[in-house]
Amino acid sequence: MKKSLVWIRRDIRLIDHTALSAAIAESDEVHLVFIFDEKILQKLPANDRRVTFIHESLRELNNELTNYNSEINILFGDPVEEIPKLTKKIGVQKVFFNRDYEKYALNRDKKVTTKLKEMDIATSSYRDHVIFEASEVLKKDNTPYKVFTPYKRAWIARFMSEFSRAKLFRANHQKYAQDVPHRFSKTDWMKKTGFGPQELSIEAGRKGALKVLERFKKNIGTYHETRNLLEETSTSGLSPYIRHGLISIREVLSLGVKENAIIHETFVSELVWREFYQMILSHFPVVEKSSFKPQYDAIKWAGGKKELVAWQKGETGYPIVDAGMRCLNQTGLMPNRLRMVTASFLCKTLLVDWKKGEKYFAEKLMDFDLASNNGGWQWSSSTGCDAQPYFRIFNPLSQSQKFDPNGDFIRKWCPELAKLDAKQIHQPHAYGPLFLIEKDIQYPMPVVDYSSKRVEALAMYKSALK
Ligand SMILES: Cc1cc2nc3c(=O)[nH]c(=O)nc-3n(C[C@H](O)[C@H](O)[C@H](O)COP(=O)(O)OP(=O)(O)OC[C@H]3O[C@@H](n4cnc5c(N)ncnc54)[C@H](O)[C@@H]3O)c2cc1C
Repeated sequence: MKKSLVWIRRDIRLIDHTALSAAIAESDEVHLVFIFDEKILQKLPANDRRVTFIHESLRELNNELTNYNSEINILFGDPVEEIPKLTKKIGVQKVFFNRDYEKYALNRDKKVTTKLKEMDIATSSYRDHVIFEASEVLKKDNTPYKVFTPYKRAWIARFMSEFSRAKLFRANHQKYAQDVPHRFSKTDWMKKTGFGPQELSIEAGRKGALKVLERFKKNIGTYHETRNLLEETSTSGLSPYIRHGLISIREVLSLGVKENAIIHETFVSELVWREFYQMILSHFPVVEKSSFKPQYDAIKWAGGKKELVAWQKGETGYPIVDAGMRCLNQTGLMPNRLRMVTASFLCKTLLVDWKKGEKYFAEKLMDFDLASNNGGWQWSSSTGCDAQPYFRIFNPLSQSQKFDPNGDFIRKWCPELAKLDAKQIHQPHAYGPLFLIEKDIQYPMPVVDYSSKRVEALAMYKSALK
């Protein structure tokens, strides 16, 4: 009897799971495992929401499995030790997993594969988190793209020639269910990992993902017009589910594809941005620590701790920036438009090194993904490939007026400003020193003056580029 182990990582689902489908096709008995990786967990604070999100998602997946008299192994430790130990215990002949392209994961997987090989256990890894891997969409001379638009054109051309909607994803549920034996460890692994349950602002698990997907189906037709507005339904809200693989990238992409035509190009473009950044990180791993354009590493960032802390807490005195940061702090989410505005504000108004902002987002975002986060920060700080030019500096006031015209987003996250009208709320300090005092509103004074910092930022960038 051929026994296999499927190692679940950032793909917590049973449907359209490439490694799982392959394991089922090849095996008589398929076992599942998820490992809370101690090396990743030890860097996170005990109140990290993502651990709860993963925990709840695993619990849901496990409940689904019990319907079929099946459960999943949940372990805590170093996968390099735990995977070989488990394979020995169960007596599997092969381990299946979907590829993860981050440096830490690549090294870890290499070590696990080598160890298993020494034990005479085979491994097979699969493309699953992306439609195309880094070296599948290259320029004619076989070098990587550094500009998004031609990359996107080539990506779409290849996609059209290889996929149709019907072929995009497969259901493997029925067959899988009969093959998995009872394996779930009853240990309370959340306690074991030292993490306490946190309140989540979104529903965890595949059920949560499918609800969000259904909601977005109703709005996808207007996505190209609304995607920058700061309303809950103006974008899909799918990123945390994509990040943890509660839904496959093929299921998400299929929303924008009909037969073999792309019907929602703006939406598909965003998914291609995700693959673009993934490709950049794979071909240019240096971006994890430095600017894609090395000359930008010479910037002498003038901003210090005071500015960074005001930004982190959402106390800069710029309502749109503060609303975005408080939303991030309280939910782990932030709309894309505000990620761009707050990132630009940190580097180009507060003059703080983008790497400090990148790190903060990495700690807080429910959808944190190294490639997209790094890409977004390098784009906003102008240090990346195909980035915003350094002299383009978002004005928080005009961004606020344009994308939160009634001030509803600000009202929600900066409730002390709620009584201001749609005009005042974007710049409460513009109405004189007594304006807020008379209204009994306590809201921080602007930590810096935008206009003078704009001049300083341009000089700071120019001097580094000389
Ligand atoms: C400074 C900064 C940091 C970011 N950090 C992350 C991150 O850690 N993880 C992350 O998934 N996205 C990140 N993004 C990209 C983007 O902000 C989020 O993907 C988006 O806000 C998620 O919301 P949504 O699912 O409603 O997006 P939608 O607009 O509905 O887009 C659908 C999907 O496309 C992908 N996508 C959309 N925009 C981008 C983009 N600009 N770059 C890459 N992929 C994109 C995401 O998978 C998203 O779920 C960052 C952007 C910036 C400017």
